[in-house]
Amino acid sequence: MAGKKHSSLDRVLGRLDALDSVNLANLVQRLARERALFEEIFNTLQEGILVVRDNGAIEYANASAHRLIGLGNDELAGQTLWRLVPGLHTSLSGALDEQAEIDSASVVAREFELSYPEPRIVRLYMVPFRVAGAGAQSRRFAVILSDITKEKQSTEARIESERTSSILLLAAGVAHELGNPLNSLNIHLQLIERKLKKLKGSPESEALAESVQVCRDEVARLDGIITNFLDAIRPRAPDLSETNLMDVLADVLRFQQREIADRGIEVEAESSTLPIVLADRNQLKQVFFNITKNAMEAMGGGGKLKIKTRVDDDFVYLLFADSGSGIKQEDLIRLFEPYYTTKAGGHGLGLMIAQRIMREHGGQIGLESKESIGTVVTLQFPRKDRRVRMLQS
Ligand code: ADP
Ligand code: MG
Repeated sequence: MAGKKHSSLDRVLGRLDALDSVNLANLVQRLARERALFEEIFNTLQEGILVVRDNGAIEYANASAHRLIGLGNDELAGQTLWRLVPGLHTSLSGALDEQAEIDSASVVAREFELSYPEPRIVRLYMVPFRVAGAGAQSRRFAVILSDITKEKQSTEARIESERTSSILLLAAGVAHELGNPLNSLNIHLQLIERKLKKLKGSPESEALAESVQVCRDEVARLDGIITNFLDAIRPRAPDLSETNLMDVLADVLRFQQREIADRGIEVEAESSTLPIVLADRNQLKQVFFNITKNAMEAMGGGGKLKIKTRVDDDFVYLLFADSGSGIKQEDLIRLFEPYYTTKAGGHGLGLMIAQRIMREHGGQIGLESKESIGTVVTLQFPRKDRRVRMLQS
């Protein structure tokens, strides 16, 4: 049907000079309707669509393009794509050369980052075409912009988790191997101790006995570090079952009751019924424990820990908001690194483990903080009913 319409339109356009004013008015109306239809279609697209001249001037932009590059509707005039996407013009010099017909037919695909109105990663796809009858000025580019921020982030998250887990696996192996020499050290220290006891009395032997004791303490400490490390990182696939997040949370808080009271902390947990999620109860406990522990440690002189819940179509969110010391901006980006700690007795594994467990649950962990105001840790879990829907579709 559309094809038929077009061919009749083409026929009319071919006899333009033969049209009287009434028919011309009809034609203009028809073209306007046609244009409105296309504009509407373009505006429903998620991709940004631009038509750009040789000099980069933007002739047309659909709604998504406006949104992506942060332009108001009336801000188009005089804008050039080259200004909006720094570096694009330079990388196009070949395609822009009027003489190079081969080059000018080339399609450009590349990714770039926009920092305004919000940080986005955008894939740009650019195809040259000619507007019939426009002479030397006929060349245009059709530009398609796709927002790939999410896609990029999830790939990066995957690579990161693969990288962390292979390093952890290696470290776990090394830590395990350290157990044997430590054992042997311990046995020999015990032997030395026994022999020293037989030499009791001489001042040298007492000094030696002291040294041996120091060695044994240090060996015990090393052993503790390794045991903790192995407990913490040995990657275990989550054993998923239908879980009520609030139940697990209540368990953890009950376990921490004593410490909460001793530190003068008030816990205010929203009591809402949350949708079921698929989770490994023990691993969840570890996550909640690490987060509430950090919150408590950040509230040295007492404070308030508020636990809130949110639900949307796809996710269940738990928010842990403390009134503690907060986190410096330069620290914020490093918190998930293994062994990154700002505490004297910290081991710097808590958040990294929490992140790994959340990822294995198809979830995410986020931190937001303001120095001397407090910190909000957000845990995002996929809803069980959402997963079912995904499998069905
Ligand atoms: P650790 O607690 O052993 O230091 P974590 O991985 O649990 O290791 O935390 C890393 C660092 O993140 C902490 O040393 C601290 O600086 C910071 N941090 C985590 N949670 C909070 C919080 N709720 N408030 C302030 N700082 C925090
Ligand atoms: Mg911690």
